[in-house]
Amino acid sequence: MRVIYSDQHTGHDPQQFILRGRMKRSNEQPERATLLLEAARSQGHEIVAPGDHGAGPRAAVHTPQYLRFLETAWERWQQLEGASEEVMPNIHPFPGQPCTYPDSVVGQAGYHMGDMASSIGRHTWHAAVWSAHAATHAAQLVLDGERVAYALCRPPGHHAFADRASGFTYLNNTAIAAQQLRQRHQRVAILDVDVHHGNGTQGIFWRRKDVLTVSLHGDPRCSYPFFTGHAHEIGEGEGLGYNLNLPLAPGTGDGGFLAALATANATIRAFAPGALVVALGLDAYEGDPYKTLAVTTSGFGRILAEVARLGLPTVLVQEGGYLCEDLGANLASALAGFERVA
Ligand SMILES: [Zn+2]
Repeated sequence: MRVIYSDQHTGHDPQQFILRGRMKRSNEQPERATLLLEAARSQGHEIVAPGDHGAGPRAAVHTPQYLRFLETAWERWQQLEGASEEVMPNIHPFPGQPCTYPDSVVGQAGYHMGDMASSIGRHTWHAAVWSAHAATHAAQLVLDGERVAYALCRPPGHHAFADRASGFTYLNNTAIAAQQLRQRHQRVAILDVDVHHGNGTQGIFWRRKDVLTVSLHGDPRCSYPFFTGHAHEIGEGEGLGYNLNLPLAPGTGDGGFLAALATANATIRAFAPGALVVALGLDAYEGDPYKTLAVTTSGFGRILAEVARLGLPTVLVQEGGYLCEDLGANLASALAGFERVA
C-alpha cells in the first residue's frame, strides 16, 4: 500500500515532558518515525511524499484562535525574559468559572495546552503542519479510488481538540482525514485502536452525527487521559449515540481486544459509512513503554485483518506507539494483516 511520509518532522524533538512529577525527555521522539518508515519500506510498501494541501484541511477541524496560537507561540515565548527553549503551560482555566481569553502567551499556553506532554519547540508547528498534510494526502488518495492508504504521521494527532494540544499532539490528523473524506461521503467512521482514548477526536465530533467515533483503549480510570474514554460518553445533541467508547481492563491481550473490536465493527457496520479512518496507535503492544495492554505483534495483524473485513475505503493514520524493539515489526504485522484481507 502507499505510505505517505514526510521527513519535515525531524526538527520537532520535544525535550521536556513531565511524567509522575519528573521532567524527562518526551517519549514521542523522531526515531519512532524512522523505525516505522524502515519497517514499511522493508515490506515493499511504496513511500510517497505528501503535497502541500494548504491551510484548509486543518482549519476545517481547529479554531482560528488555536491555529494562530500554535503558529506564533514559540517566537512570542522566546521574547519573555528567562523563557525556556520550549513553550510549557503553568496555569490553566478552571472549568465552569469565568474565563477571559488572555493576551499573554503564558495565559494562552495554559488555555490551549492541556498537559505537560505537548511542549512547543522551534520546529513543532512546521512538523505538525506536514504531519497533517500526510493525513490529508492519504485521504485524498482514498477519495481518488485507492482501497487503503497509510499516513505515517508524526507528531501524532488524536489527543488534539479543536482548540487544545495535549498528549504529544497538536493538529488532529485523524479528524482532518475524516473531514476530508466527508467531501464525498455522507457518513465517515473513525476507529481508534491506540491504547489511549482518542479524546481530541471525540471532542471534535462530539455533537455530530455524520462522523461516528469509536475508540478502544485502556480503562481511563487508571490511565491517560483519565477524564474521558468512559463507556457512558455517547455524544450530545445531534451527535447523541454517535460516539462509542470501549475501555479495556489493564493487561487485556489479543483475545479481549478482538472481542471488543467485534462490538466496534458491528457498530460501524450499522452506521453504514462510506469510508473509514483508523487511528492506528501501536502502544497497546505488550512491550510498549506504556505497558497498559498486552496485544502481541501477530495480534496487530489480526486486528487490522478484522478492520479490512469491513470492506471500506480506509485511511490508516499513525498515532502512538513508542520506542521498543518491536515497534517496526508491529507496524509491518498491522499493514500485512490489512492486506491479507483487502
Ligand atoms: Zn497512545
